[in-house]
Amino acid sequence: MPSPAGVMREQRIAYFTMECGVLSQIPTYAGGLGVLAGDIIRSSADLRIPLIGVTLVSRHGYFHQEIDEVGQQHERPFMWDPARFLEDMGVRVAVRIGGRDIQVRAWQFVQQSLTGGRVPLLFLDTDLPENDPADRAITNRLYGHDRRIRFAQECVLGFGGVRILQALGNSIRKYHMNEGHSALLALELLQRHGMDETEVRERCVFTTHTPIEAGHDRFDYALVDALIEDNPTWQLLRQYCRRGGAEHDPVRAQALGICERGRKTARRDLDQDVPGLYDPCDHERRPLLHLDLPPFRRLFDRYLLGWANEPELLVRQQIIPNAFVWQAHEAAKQSLVEYANRLTGSSLCPETLTLGFARRFTAYKRPVLLFSDLERLRKVAGCRRIQVMLAGKAYPTDEEGKRLIREVHRIRDELAGEIEVAFLPDYDMDIAARMVAGVDIWLNTPERPMEASGTSGMKAAHNGVPNFSVLDGWWIEGCIEDVTGWAIGPPPEAEVSRDEGLVWELDDLYNKLGYVIRPLYYRCRDEWIEMMNNAIGTVAYYFNTHRMMRRYVTEAYP
Ligand SMILES: *Cc1c(COP(=O)(O)O)cnc(C)c1O
Repeated sequence: MPSPAGVMREQRIAYFTMECGVLSQIPTYAGGLGVLAGDIIRSSADLRIPLIGVTLVSRHGYFHQEIDEVGQQHERPFMWDPARFLEDMGVRVAVRIGGRDIQVRAWQFVQQSLTGGRVPLLFLDTDLPENDPADRAITNRLYGHDRRIRFAQECVLGFGGVRILQALGNSIRKYHMNEGHSALLALELLQRHGMDETEVRERCVFTTHTPIEAGHDRFDYALVDALIEDNPTWQLLRQYCRRGGAEHDPVRAQALGICERGRKTARRDLDQDVPGLYDPCDHERRPLLHLDLPPFRRLFDRYLLGWANEPELLVRQQIIPNAFVWQAHEAAKQSLVEYANRLTGSSLCPETLTLGFARRFTAYKRPVLLFSDLERLRKVAGCRRIQVMLAGKAYPTDEEGKRLIREVHRIRDELAGEIEVAFLPDYDMDIAARMVAGVDIWLNTPERPMEASGTSGMKAAHNGVPNFSVLDGWWIEGCIEDVTGWAIGPPPEAEVSRDEGLVWELDDLYNKLGYVIRPLYYRCRDEWIEMMNNAIGTVAYYFNTHRMMRRYVTEAYP
């Protein structure tokens, strides 16, 4: 089979990402961004795109989440041994940080595909005996909380990544930065290309996934000064940051380039008159993902042979008999319910309409919006006719996110005996795969317009699970009311105040749940399965990483 990227057979695309989830035993991902990065690696291998990933080894992982009896989250390091999964590539490069030359090594993971595609992923590591103990810890924790370590991590990824690729003899024609964490690589390239901005711009692609300003790095000059003052690149960085803003503005990755055709919000918050080093690229919002979920995978394999490499075949899902679609769903649900009951001691029932909500716990994602008005919820839920499963970690310094986890536990206790609520601790890719396949409805209630994408909803659709979501992120494009799922609240163009928006959202939540979704589920099973079919044939058909990668190849990588 010819590679769709035949023209670039010799030279590779380098994909830089601070987090990357390729296996749940390799805990180097925090959430959607990292899981998407892992899917990019997998899809590239399937499509035989000559790509090589670069990330950090994060030896302590993100963290293991433990929940105590009051619902308080505790974080435990998730230690893993790179030698168990990866090959030491035997190279060392030096990166100068804080006045010391720090040695960096690379471990390699290779994603193999049945198509014969092979995509390597390099994990950069500073934990070497020749390094100072403090420097050895730089690549321990994903998204180090300490600002110094965080900037040092970006130096290792940006400068170290380019050098390691070269040391391993790779010829790179494009550098794709997944978010700004690897932006320093552009400085390294400028030096290598004789300060030729046009050349470097040609070689770089930048994609962003968060529309909000807080999602983008800022570093104090003093800190950056202290860490890379004696690097030749420091003057350059200064120069670009000054061009991008006021003299004393913090150093921001975005000063090095900006996504010009990002979504409206990104434009509003980030677009400034700064010199761009990167090609603008507007693919940041349509990822996805095909998860390996046995019941539906078997069904697709039987009726849509070749679907995994050509997701367009999902458009033919109507040839799968409805009874089999339902059976596959029941199998996934049964297994999830048993798993959750065993894990949490809850008494979820496989016959009950089940809502699922799993993602990072943080204020803007509003994990408890469904529970805003318990009286209304009780009314629409009837007696044990609806149950809810939630999961998600809060970033260790996100106190509000942690409070929301406690709040879910409090509500669970308050609703005991009426509406079964279960919180599955230690959310990871495995639990995600079980949940998106085993619930009946995927619920998503972010505060508009904060959600950049919301990839978990697309994963649910791949398993025939309809979405019930606020019209934000990908759902603006994915929602066809009563066909692919249901909308919560106003459309993006509606000019409503925050309060009016909230009233609209709560009305939709409770009214649709009580008068549309619940009756359909219990009384019109065939129509329900039709919606499941649409989730597959309309949503999953379109929202998948294979399509995204093909577009990267034709539109961003040429
Ligand atoms: C898909 C996924 C996410 C992202 O979920 P969103 O709905 O985009 O917030 C987070 N964590 C894991 C483990 C996932 O698989």
